[in-house]
Parts: sequence; C-alpha cells; structure tokens
Amino acid sequence: MGHPRPIVGGNWKMNTNLASAVELANDVVAGCSPFLDRVDVAVFPPFPYLQAVGRTLGHDGVTLGAQDVFDQPRGAFTGEVGTEMLLDLNVSQVLVGHSERRHQIGEPDDLVNRKLRAALWAGLSATLCVGETLEQRQAGRTEPNTVGQLMAGLSGVPPEQMRQVTIAYEPVWAIGTGMTATPEDAETVHKVLRATLGDLYDDPIAESTRIQYGGSVNANNAEALFGQPNIDGFLVGGASLDPDAFAAIVRAAADSG
Ligand code: PEP
Repeated sequence: MGHPRPIVGGNWKMNTNLASAVELANDVVAGCSPFLDRVDVAVFPPFPYLQAVGRTLGHDGVTLGAQDVFDQPRGAFTGEVGTEMLLDLNVSQVLVGHSERRHQIGEPDDLVNRKLRAALWAGLSATLCVGETLEQRQAGRTEPNTVGQLMAGLSGVPPEQMRQVTIAYEPVWAIGTGMTATPEDAETVHKVLRATLGDLYDDPIAESTRIQYGGSVNANNAEALFGQPNIDGFLVGGASLDPDAFAAIVRAAADSG
C-alpha cells in the first residue's frame, strides 16, 4: 500500500520574534499553498507568537501547532500552558516528547504520555516524538529504545484516538547536527515502529498512522527519504525557518505522494 496522506511540520523552536514569525508564516503560506491539496502542513511557533501566527495562517490551510503542552487543563502550574489555552488560540496540533524536551529539560516517558493523553482528550492532534541517542545507537539499542518510547508514550491511548496521533522518528544525533539518517536506516526504524503499532492496535491503524522522519531534513535529502515506503512526512527544525527550503520539502512529499 502507498503512503497515507503526507504530513510535514515546521518546528521553529525558540526562534523568531513577533515580526519575523508573522513574516515567516506569510511566506510559508505562500510557498506551501500549491501543495495543501496533497500534504498536511503545520507550523509550531513559540508560544508567545501563536496568536499572531494563527491570524496570519487563517483557518483552512497551514495548521497552527504548539511545541509542547502541559498535562493539566488549567490551575496552579506556574509557567505551563494547557490544552484549553491552546484551543482558544485555534491550535490544532501539539508536539510531545521532542528530544530537546526529553534530553535538555529532562522530561520522562510518563510525563510525555500524560501530555499526549491530555492533548488527545482535549481534541487536539498530537505528534509523539521518539528517537535514540548516539550512545544508544552505538550500543545497538536503537530498536528497544525507540520502541520503548513509542509504547510508553501510547500507553492508555485508545484505538479511536489514534487518528489524532502522528509519530515522529527523530534520532537525537541527527537533530540540528547536519547528520541525517540514511533513507535505509530511517526506513528500518520506521518499519519497526509501524509493526509495533500493529501489535499495540491493529493493521489498519498501523497503516494509517503517519510516521514522520526528523533530523536535519533539507531540500536536498527530502525526496530520497520520502521514497521509503514507511516514511510519511517530515518534522523539520532548522530548514523550517527558511520558507523556500521548507516549501521544497513539502513539495518533495507532495510530488512523490
Ligand atoms: C526537530 O527539531 O524536530 C528537528 C528535526 O530539527 P532539525 O531539522 O534542525 O534537525
């Protein structure tokens, strides 16, 4: 079977300011509009710019995403941002378990799982990020580590909510380093993750759940990566700040989809 509808996300991380975020959003809309009939595209600006970027995106095209979400809807949680606040700003997609949050902030699997479940119950779509470190890869532990993160992240997620879930395989050693997994290496992991979805749920859910690759994706390597049968799109960091490069990545998914 072919790819499910591709999905490409632009994770702006802690970059842009108010003016440049709005300008980037405008440029992303202009560059990606020709492909939106074939590809789902989301951008993930920093929290303070969600409202302005959301206004720029409008309602029917590029989707507004948030880089994180807390597991409680509201209350005495200083500094956190909950699902109701994000819904208020027309956010429809959130990232959970990004490697920078796992490894630089120290988020454990069980918090990632609670965040994912909170997002899904609130009606948000969510991208669950998984990926091994260089040490884990060199120790031959890529598979148990990524499968373990997937299983822990999806714990308690019922089958009917899986249509709100996207998986992003992002090897930590490839994020922001310029080192990309080869298409074959990425495909090997994507295949294992899809088989795990089949074990946890069933074959139709495994086949329809989109598994993005992330890690130094750019305009030059996107086509070869997307050529792999189990790579259904991309989560893009650095290159998503360049609207031409981002549009080229979206086009690679649209053309071969
Ligand atoms: C990311 O932040 O999800 C990412 C993949 O970053 P980069 O494309 O810069 O490696």
